Amino acid sequence: MRILIVEDEAELATLLAARLGAAGFVVDCLGDCADAFEAVLGAPYGLVLLDRRLPDGDGAALIPRLRAARPGLAVILLTALDQVAERVGGLDAGADDYLVKPFDMDELLARIRAALRRPGAAPSPPILCGQLSFDPAMRAVSVAGEALHLRRRELAILEVLIQRAGRVVPRERLLDAAFGCDDDITPASVETHISRLRRRLEASDAGVAIHAIRGVGYVVSTK
Ligand code: CA
Repeated sequence: MRILIVEDEAELATLLAARLGAAGFVVDCLGDCADAFEAVLGAPYGLVLLDRRLPDGDGAALIPRLRAARPGLAVILLTALDQVAERVGGLDAGADDYLVKPFDMDELLARIRAALRRPGAAPSPPILCGQLSFDPAMRAVSVAGEALHLRRRELAILEVLIQRAGRVVPRERLLDAAFGCDDDITPASVETHISRLRRRLEASDAGVAIHAIRGVGYVVSTK
């Protein structure tokens, strides 16, 4: 799952990116509305953390355009504006949730999980494939009831594959899901992570195989 942070306070943006990265999300940071809109048009973000006071306008005013560009996108507004009218205005603009700075990072993560559970943002029942179960809202993987902890990019790749189990997923789509805009990407990037993911699935007896479809992409299926 990719998250876009739109925040012009560099220190806070860096802190947020580190924390969300550690929580297993692939994160990009941008500092204004115009760049954020371009980014949402170009990459499959599942959620945007959006500051309101941005150099080129109010983040809340951007929400309708973001939603039009990517239906189902979850949006959480981050702001120092804590007046009731401002909160109501933010939610009326279409935000899924609203956090007033300064906020607790654990609370932010809980709100992100809640926003991703909302109808239209992400399907919520666990997806089963072989012995493997994937909970889309918690982004938790288990095999025969045992938690399987994957690295961030392995998780991002599995997330996309398992949600389309039995169907071929183009390599481009996996690249988009697993790598941020500033990451170094080589032609072997996806293969490397797929190989690791295969070993993890094999070692845990998940009963799931990832097949390469030459020149196209990958498909996950039961063994
Ligand atoms: Ca700001």
